[in-house]
Amino acid sequence: MRYSLPSLPYAYDALEPHFDQKTMEIHHSKHHQTYVNNANTVLAAYPELDKYTLEELIQNLDKVPADQRTWMRNNAGGHFNHSFFWKQLKIGTVMPSKLQSAIERDFGSVERFKEKFEKTALACFGSGWAWLVLQGGKLRVVSTVNQDSPVMGEAITGTSGLPIIALDVWEHAYYLKYQNKRLDYIKAFWNVVNWDEVAVRFHRKMVI
Ligand code: MN
Repeated sequence: MRYSLPSLPYAYDALEPHFDQKTMEIHHSKHHQTYVNNANTVLAAYPELDKYTLEELIQNLDKVPADQRTWMRNNAGGHFNHSFFWKQLKIGTVMPSKLQSAIERDFGSVERFKEKFEKTALACFGSGWAWLVLQGGKLRVVSTVNQDSPVMGEAITGTSGLPIIALDVWEHAYYLKYQNKRLDYIKAFWNVVNWDEVAVRFHRKMVI
């Protein structure tokens, strides 16, 4: 099984003006494609890895030959994270009430959740991701570095949980439009979160 770049379920300009067309195009067709290509070089060399799905592979990086492990952590991780990221983007959805109740239960209010998420995304030094995850039945905000994902587990990433929301805070995700103003990009994200998709993930405990 070789990985392939998933098509976006919308046009590159669908998230304007919050996420601009040029950034979306480069981010998807160049950056994500590169993670896919890089991961495929390992899959081609080690057909014994074919039996794992993408998610299984990044949950079991010890199955990858040691000298390829960091490469797969970064590139299969990048493929997974971006596939997850694209699906949760859409303009104009509203947070469903059951998800809102769960957020209020675990963070106090939606505003406090957003503040915590923004702070975590802003504090991620260098390249990484901010996440809303479900950990032991409770919603939590965490971050990972580089292309690590909470599904890789505690031992590798220092965090764990089922991802519900992901925000890419690599500069390639925002620099063309927002330059050094990462917080403006983070705040713009709330306009493009597909809350219906997020709620499906939350209720069905489904990753991608
Ligand atoms: Mn990215």
